[in-house]
Order: sequence, then structure tokens, then C-alpha cells
Amino acid sequence: MLRLENVTKTFGTHTVLKEITTNFNDQETTVLVGPSGSGKSTLLRSLNLLERPESGFYDCDGIELDFAKKITKKETLAVRQKTEMVFQDYNLFPHLTVLKNIMEGPVHVLKEDKTSAKKRALELLNKVGLKDKADAYPNQLSGGQAQRVAIARSLAMKPRYILLDEPTSALDPELELEVLKVLLELAKEKQSLVIVTHNLEFARHVADKILFIEDGKIFFAGKKDEFFNSTNARIQEFIHAMTL
Ligand code: ADP
Ligand code: MG
Repeated sequence: MLRLENVTKTFGTHTVLKEITTNFNDQETTVLVGPSGSGKSTLLRSLNLLERPESGFYDCDGIELDFAKKITKKETLAVRQKTEMVFQDYNLFPHLTVLKNIMEGPVHVLKEDKTSAKKRALELLNKVGLKDKADAYPNQLSGGQAQRVAIARSLAMKPRYILLDEPTSALDPELELEVLKVLLELAKEKQSLVIVTHNLEFARHVADKILFIEDGKIFFAGKKDEFFNSTNARIQEFIHAMTL
């Protein structure tokens, strides 16, 4: 399980996360929603130690950290092996083919042998529907294809948790759908996912749990159905504002 307890993060004088306590369960999809600027990205990035909260406790599948104390390089690496971040703008290596992009981490970080890394990379490409793109370069891909490669690349690292920050916000609607379908498939296979999205229709399909964040605090945390059927005026107002 991923767990945050009383986590606070401040930029300058602006406290962006205010004593956040929550769990992200294994084999579930947790979707973070909330207004722009509410702290969703900061929360997600804290799970991968891309942001360093100044206080609170963190537990990543048994790696327990106190944010008020120094975090060692070794601890950071251990957390990063269990969590993979998928970025909005894919972050593929432009000079490497799609296949090599996926093999890079397994070969150089996990020290897998090249033959088995290649076999698995091809399986993952097949999984995201891009078997025929193995030898293409990133600039030959559509945005939707690039994001699917980025997802395959994260899976190749066998992380326990995949973190996605608005994974489709740079995509046209038809390309968005092909990425969302891959994520739905991963969720069905019980890959643990934490996803920030503005797409409530997608959240309704993919989420087990919803975290609704507002002004750096968790306004709601619970099962998807509880969220979408909530009688709370603020939740209803948010859902209404975010849907056609
Ligand atoms: P969200 O993803 O919900 O839109 P963010 O987590 O990106 O929200 O940002 C929350 C708040 O923190 C915003 O007011 C934003 O301007 C501020 N913020 C985020 N990152 C930084 C930073 N590196 N330096 C200063 N302020 C930041
Ligand atoms: Mg954000």
C-alpha cells in the first residue's frame, strides 16, 4: 500500500498540501480529482519523491519515510523502483527507437539481459496495440501512440504503482480514447494505478476509489459510487461543472 500521513508541502509561503492523510490501495485504481491548483500534481509527485513535503510520514509498500528527516539516495531509488510516473508529455528518449525506449530501463537499471528485455518489450508493445511501431522513432508517432509507448515503458520496470498526471490532456479526443482504453485494461488486470484526470467520465469507468482534493485538503475519499452518488452540495457542484 502507498500511504501518506499528515503530509504538508509548502512552496514559499503557500501551503499546497495540508496535513494529507490517505491510502492508495494495492491492485486498485485511485483517481485524484479537484479544481486546478488544488494540489493534485503536487500530491502525485510526492508519491514518487519528485516533490519533497517538509513534514509527514510516507509508506511505500513497506519503505517508511519521515519527511521531516533526511531521505537517503538509497531510499529514493527504492521508492522509484516501486513507483513509475507517466507524464503528460510522454518524456520518451527522442534518439531511441520505441523498442529501445522500452528496453532502456530494464537493461540499464534492472540489469536484465537484452534478449529477455527485448522479448518483454515486444509483449508490452503488443499489449498497448503498437507491435508494428517497434522500430519507429518517437517523432514518427502520434501523441496517443507516444503516450501508449510511455505506458509500456513504465510497465517494463515492473513497478508496483503507476502514477499518471493527466495522461491524456495533450491529446485530441480520438487519440485520448486509445490511451484511456489501455489504462482501463490495466485497471482490469489489477495493476495499481493512481491517476490525476479532469475526465470524470473516464474516472467513472476506471476508478475504484476517488480522492477529491480542494485547496490542499482531501474533501472526499471513498468508493467511486459514493462519490458519484454523493448528496454533498460541493461534490455535486464539482461533478456538474466538470460534465456536459
Ligand atoms: P493541480 O495539479 O491540482 O492543478 P498543483 O499541485 O500543480 O495543482 O499546484 C498546487 C499549487 O501549488 C498551485 O497554486 C501552484 O501554483 C503551486 N505550485 C505548484 N508547483 C509549484 C512550484 N514548483 N513552485 C511554486 N508553487 C508551485
Ligand atoms: Mg496538475
